This record gives sequence, C-alpha cells and structure tokens, in this order.
Amino acid sequence: MNRKYRKTVIAGNWKMNQLVSGVKPFMEELKKELPQNKQCDIVLCTPAVMIPAMVKAGKDCKVAAGGQDVSKYEKGAYTGEVSADQLLDAGAKYCIVGHSERRQYHHEDDMLINAKARALLAKGITPIICVGESLEQREMDLTIEHITYQVKAALYGISATELRHCIIAYEPIWAIGTGKTATSEQAQEVCEAIRGVIRKMYGARPARAVSILYGGSMNAKNAEELLAQPDIDGGLIGGASLKPADFAAIVKATDQ
Ligand code: PEP
Repeated sequence: MNRKYRKTVIAGNWKMNQLVSGVKPFMEELKKELPQNKQCDIVLCTPAVMIPAMVKAGKDCKVAAGGQDVSKYEKGAYTGEVSADQLLDAGAKYCIVGHSERRQYHHEDDMLINAKARALLAKGITPIICVGESLEQREMDLTIEHITYQVKAALYGISATELRHCIIAYEPIWAIGTGKTATSEQAQEVCEAIRGVIRKMYGARPARAVSILYGGSMNAKNAEELLAQPDIDGGLIGGASLKPADFAAIVKATDQ
C-alpha cells in the first residue's frame, strides 16, 4: 500500500450468495467487528437486488454498495440486464467488471469489458476492472503479456480524468476460490507491471494515483503480507467476504 498517493480499498464480492433478508443481520455483525478508525474504503459488491438494502445497512459504518456486473447498453429491450443508471439509482458507488467468472461463463471479451467500464464511468460509478491469467498462461510465461493486453483493452478510450475513478483488480484465475493464493512476490510483480502499463498509457502521476487490488483467496491470514506490498492497494475478496469476522479481519490488516 502507499497511502500517500492512493486510496486503500477492501471490496467484497458476494457473487450469487446471501439473501436480501440477510443483509441487515450480516451488517449488524460486521459493524461489531469493524475497527472504529478504518484505514481504507470498504465496499460490498452484492447481487443487484440487494443493493438498496446494503446502502441502508452500510450507511452508519461507511460501507459502500457495489454491483457485480452492468449492461453496456443505456436502456431498452435487454431482458435480464441491469444498466449503470439503474445501479446508480439503487445507490451503487462501485461495480465489478470483467470478473473471470463472467469472462468464462458468459463469454465476455475485453471489448465488452471496456464498454461496460465506460458505461459505469458515464454515470459516475467506479468500475473495479478485473484482470488475471490462467494457470496455463502463467506456466507458459505469458502472464505479463496477457495482463498488459487486458489492461490496455479495458482502459481504451478512458481519459486520465476518468482513470482517477477506476480501480484495477489483479485476480489470477488459478487463485480464485481455490485456496491457492499468489505469493506476495507474484502478486506484487503483476501489480507493479499493471502500474507500468498505466504509466505508459497515461504518465507517471495518474499511474501513481490508481488503486490496484489483489484478489484470489485473500483471507485473514495472508492479507497483511499481501497488503504490505508497495503496489497492492487493497483486496477484492470472495469467500472471506461472506463471513463478517473474516471480512473485518482483512479490513484490520490494512491498519499497518
Ligand atoms: C473473487 O471472486 O473475486 C475472489 C477473489 O474470490 P476468492 O476470494 O473466494 O478467491
């Protein structure tokens, strides 16, 4: 982390878990566990139907609500889709785009992810743009090339002013939900490379200011070491965000 230049962000990704009726009790538990003086911004990205409940329950403990996906279209005949305007109206301040599960199960490509990030920015919602390599790509020594492509494509046409409202999340696919975390050296190496790509695209100052998160089996035990890396500015957390005590322990790990 480098708090001098950028925000530390701990974002949970509930995926397709929890219920609307469970938001309030979860947040009551979380409130008890969170430190008083938080050293980071906290977000919980829930299924879209839970966003209003999260906004309400998160108000007095400063936990922001986020979505997990958005349509690239503004509005109209797109059954099942949720627009950026609708997310904004529901109270979302953030939204994940390009999560590997969407890339894999919904065949989302880099162009679509770019369009989604731009749709969010147009409404003032912070996109949390996910990038990450597969195990095969890592073994073939293609990690940096792959990530470079993904970052460049995701940020295509996004201005330096808009970049200030973007977050990048490095999530190696092989580490998501598997219990296999990237070592702090592996995670730092890629996050540093991401900042390097952004530096080439936008210059030193914007690159220095962008928050880059690590995601992939982050938990209470490994968070402190990962967050101690100079280019890792927080975490995107799946499994461990479903238990208030575990999520709060990761928030506490930013207190270093
Ligand atoms: C994720 O889904 O973004 C994630 C990082 O999941 P987990 O923490 O469970 O690996």
